[in-house]
Amino acid sequence: MADDGDGKAIVRRRFLVSGIVQGVGFRPFVFRRACELDLSGWVRNIPAGVEIEVQGTAGALFAFRHALAHELPPLAVVTSSSAEDIPLLPERGFTILPSADGEKNIQVAPDSALCGDCLRELFDPADRRYRYPFITCTNCGPRYSIITAIPYDRPRTTMAAFPLCPDCLLEYDDPANRRFHAQPIACPACGPQLRLLDHAANPVAELDDALTTAVELLRAGQILAVKGIGGYHLAVDACNPEAVRRLRERKKRDEKPFAVMAADLATAQRLAVLGDMEERLLTGPESPIVIAPKAPDCPVSPLVAPANGWLGLMLPYAPIHHLLMRDRFKALVMTSANVSDEPVAFEDNDALRRLSAIADFFLVHDRPIHVRSDDSVMRVFQGKPLFYRRARGYAPRAVRLPFGTPPLLAAGAELKGAFCLVQGEQAFLSQHIGDLQNSSTCDSFRLAIRHLSGILEIAPRSVACDLHPDYLSSIHAAESGLPLTRVQHHHAHLAACMAENGLDGAVIGIIFDGAGLGSDATIWGGEFLVGGYDGFQRAGNFLPVPLAGGDAAVREPWRMALSWLYRSMGEDAFNLDHPVARRLNDTERGIFAAMLERGINAPLTSSCGRLFDAAAAVLNVRHTVSYDGQAAIELEALAETAQGPGAYSFGIAAGERPVIDFTPLFADILADMAAGAGTAAMAYRFHATVARAAVDVCTRIAGNSGLDRVVLSGGVFQNRLLTEMIYTGLLDRGLQIFTHRLVPPNDGGIALGQAAIAGWQERR
Ligand code: ZN
Ligand code: ZN
Ligand code: FE
Repeated sequence: MADDGDGKAIVRRRFLVSGIVQGVGFRPFVFRRACELDLSGWVRNIPAGVEIEVQGTAGALFAFRHALAHELPPLAVVTSSSAEDIPLLPERGFTILPSADGEKNIQVAPDSALCGDCLRELFDPADRRYRYPFITCTNCGPRYSIITAIPYDRPRTTMAAFPLCPDCLLEYDDPANRRFHAQPIACPACGPQLRLLDHAANPVAELDDALTTAVELLRAGQILAVKGIGGYHLAVDACNPEAVRRLRERKKRDEKPFAVMAADLATAQRLAVLGDMEERLLTGPESPIVIAPKAPDCPVSPLVAPANGWLGLMLPYAPIHHLLMRDRFKALVMTSANVSDEPVAFEDNDALRRLSAIADFFLVHDRPIHVRSDDSVMRVFQGKPLFYRRARGYAPRAVRLPFGTPPLLAAGAELKGAFCLVQGEQAFLSQHIGDLQNSSTCDSFRLAIRHLSGILEIAPRSVACDLHPDYLSSIHAAESGLPLTRVQHHHAHLAACMAENGLDGAVIGIIFDGAGLGSDATIWGGEFLVGGYDGFQRAGNFLPVPLAGGDAAVREPWRMALSWLYRSMGEDAFNLDHPVARRLNDTERGIFAAMLERGINAPLTSSCGRLFDAAAAVLNVRHTVSYDGQAAIELEALAETAQGPGAYSFGIAAGERPVIDFTPLFADILADMAAGAGTAAMAYRFHATVARAAVDVCTRIAGNSGLDRVVLSGGVFQNRLLTEMIYTGLLDRGLQIFTHRLVPPNDGGIALGQAAIAGWQERR
């Protein structure tokens, strides 16, 4: 072949593409582009991804390659691709060949929000899928939640019971059609149908009547359980305070904010203050809940997110959401349908049974949900997404490790449970499962492990878990009978942040969280670690103080406040003119003091989360909490409204490693309160103090170790203000900072770190 210099020479090239490239319209996309560019050749699915051979002018091949890189179908994610020139072949035309066998590299697409084309058809009276709640195509719709086995094909989805009608089959078989080989497609003639039931499961209405009646009921303030993609939601009109109040009452949820679904982006902009990234996240195919500041005249009832300047917001993502909301509601509360801490309901009979005392009516359908998945929750930090909860839309997308390992399973921690399966360089972090503290959550944990390892065909040869032997995840790992690596909690946090940022070698980790078992058998949580996948040293920490009352101290922040005040001023703490001191009578004071002095039911903890609790209680922001992290969240929300100079005092004891003593801080706060300082200003100063201490100690460690890369991890780094302060402080000292963007900084991301550490050791 001679290149005549203007791209007219004929060449043939083979491409191998892997990632999420099957079941997302990749082959028809290749087919269309090849035909448009007058290329001959073929495309086929292979177990490792997609294989393509194309032949044509060098100019056309250049354009084809550009399309492969920049014009992918919306749900495709390419993780690797290669190209090689091969000898020309006599051939005409371009074909889609049957799938071939070979080495496997399976990836499963996450569930995706309705695409723009399907949305237009949904509201087009001339379309045969007009107002059909299960409209979908190659570019959108449920995937992970309906796949029962692999290879991904209609009979191995929960659409198996709905054979395609002739009209749908024509679309399915036509490479030029948007629905070519789209497994979940259906229409009113052949697909699932809606039904409306009352709270006792008696049928009320069907098909479009079910929808219009559901809308009327919601407008009348009723509570509806709505079957969605990954589970059921409980829905009420978010602008109807009485309806929201009833939902809180029945769900036994006093204060924890509810997420709302806004009718469209324009409405969302009236509910909350949205930046570019917030809008991109809201309108993207993943369609998560995005936490953003409430707009000044937010029309949503204040009961939706009490004592909170922020609102968790999402847009309609399933067709049924659009049909319920369009032209009817500004916003609906759409909260996971569960009773307090149980997993979200997703099976029909189970939902009807468990939710009958909460929901007035059920809007259901006959397409089963195979895999339960909550809505993902995120916030934006410095223009980048920050996960609070990673689930629908993202799971089970792989995070690429900086090295390959034999197949393994990491079981995660206890709160915000999620596990991780690794094969080669691909680490598949599961969807958020929930707190592994009751049997139903544990059942769904086991079920999810079995299902995901099945569809990804990963047979773990070893397992990793937390150092804490009593976590149900640790027990599950130990019972597997496979070789077990126990990973210290904060070491795993450090490794999770390293892994998603593609780091290796040694780094400094600032790991601030609620609690994790330390290597010295005390409870850690305000930690400075130095290390990498192969090990770590504790290079600094917060001074351990008694967790007064054990677990009770987690629910009752006033106990931590009194624990610190007692440390600061001894018995005088009980005589302070402060609500925290007035909680105890004389007898109780004696018991409390003895508890602290002798360490009875008061294990030592260096927890950063408990320090935030103590500050929130001393500032009278919150003495007791009704959900995890509430005190810290409210303290941050308050601090966000203030700014300015000043910080409180703290000490750094320099022994074998720096230990930060925050005792002086509490005396300073009391003095500030006595001087009449505003609570918001004091909350801000508290944040500034913790940040200053963290930056000081980190800088010392950097100086001593010569390391200049710092990872920030642990649940406390969900706090945007603190993260910002520490980030800026470290940047000023010339350090490189890495934060989480792909997995949550909280325990929901910890399985990735366990996997990286265990994988690193396996590989040696
Ligand atoms: Zn679509
Ligand atoms: Zn059909
Ligand atoms: Fe943690």
